Amino acid sequence: MKSENVDVLVIGAGPSGAVSASILHQKGFKVKVVEKEKFPRFVIGESLIPRCMDNFEEAGFIEGVLEKNFEKKFGARFLRGNEVCHFDFSKKFTEGWDWTWQLPRAEFDKTLTDILTSRGVDIEFETAVENVIFNGTDSLTTVSNVKGEKEIHAKFIIDSSGYGRVLPRLLDLDAPSSLEPMAAIFVHLDDKRRPQGVEGTQITFDVLTQRNWFWVIPFSDGKSSLGLVAPKEYMESIDTGNNAETFKNIINQSDYYKERFDGLDFLFEPKKIVSYSAAVKKLYGSGFALTGNSAEFLDPVFSSGVCFATESGATSARLAARQLSGEAVDWEKEYEEYIMYGVNVFRSYVRTWYTGELQKLFFHTPENPEVKRKVCSILAGYVWDKNNNFVAKHDRAVPAVAYSLPG
Ligand code: FAD
Repeated sequence: MKSENVDVLVIGAGPSGAVSASILHQKGFKVKVVEKEKFPRFVIGESLIPRCMDNFEEAGFIEGVLEKNFEKKFGARFLRGNEVCHFDFSKKFTEGWDWTWQLPRAEFDKTLTDILTSRGVDIEFETAVENVIFNGTDSLTTVSNVKGEKEIHAKFIIDSSGYGRVLPRLLDLDAPSSLEPMAAIFVHLDDKRRPQGVEGTQITFDVLTQRNWFWVIPFSDGKSSLGLVAPKEYMESIDTGNNAETFKNIINQSDYYKERFDGLDFLFEPKKIVSYSAAVKKLYGSGFALTGNSAEFLDPVFSSGVCFATESGATSARLAARQLSGEAVDWEKEYEEYIMYGVNVFRSYVRTWYTGELQKLFFHTPENPEVKRKVCSILAGYVWDKNNNFVAKHDRAVPAVAYSLPG
């Protein structure tokens, strides 16, 4: 069997793997990425948040992505009947990026891998990891593609395999999620009746009921992504057996959007994902780190997925580089505790969104500008800024404010 040697093997070329591979390559390590699919490939996760930009900047991706003219995202709008709550990232509490992108992930992920390839990073597409054997921190990975199998010796593995969850499966690291099982159905369409100006381009979350919400993500090419997120049982109850039919009925539930999208052709059969929240027992082990969706995924409601994917990709790459240079790394403190702090902040906001407490705060008028600035920082992904008491006291802040409001 053919074999090769690398410093770091990155499994998966989504945003998490691309960021970690880029940072390690910049630091002079021999990196190899293996990716199961041929790019471009569809993946959901199209609304980014500003904290991602810090990670893209560190990975050297901003300029190359700017050339693609993806739609810029400056905030987000939440609707509930006639009520509106708009967040403007430039008004957030924490210093940092105040814009990001909303984009089709197939083109975006391809852009990142094209940049990496042009810099000499070795990415092998249509090549899947089949098995990994560890010997201390060294590992031997078996990968397969149409040419057959080969072995890759690595001094460290970053598992960024997303929904593939390669190492959690092989090493029995999967853990149950603490969140209730939710489901989503989504599609792209040609947004032919898109209004001019901000109304046509802004990201909107239309709250249909306390636990059901509808997303509208307009792209710069005139297409838009639409999706419904709801409890699994509800999704089952509206299933007509035909995803296109089911999705047409969902569009009709949105008083705000039904005219704009009524009768437009879907660009593919609507896709469904059920019980997508995921967790692991450990985020690292001897010779490996889990990043992005291969580690934890909460819920799409605050678009935190790519933020964690890139934050964990960048953090694990920095730590792996230090370890490979002979420095001692405290993975528990410097990786797991750090990443899980941010995950747990977001978890509190996801939880209070579905209990209705956060929605009460969002839609209450008059709004409290100080509270809004601090919550805006969370929505921008600055969930590690402990100067923000809505971060430091994430589990209590929202319920306390909601309790103090009338109604
Ligand atoms: P991925 O982007 O999934 O990339 C992993 C890669 O690993 C894939 O290309 C895959 O082919 C490859 N791979 C898998 N198995 C193997 C293998 N055996 N060998 C080699 N390669 C392999 N996030 C947001 O930020 N914003 C959103 O608006 C958003 N909306 C969402 C809506 C829904 C309904 C859901 C379920 C999720 C949403 N997310 C969103 C989350 C988002 O999809 C993920 O968090 C994000 O894509 C994770 O990036 P990643 O790099 O970890 O994994």
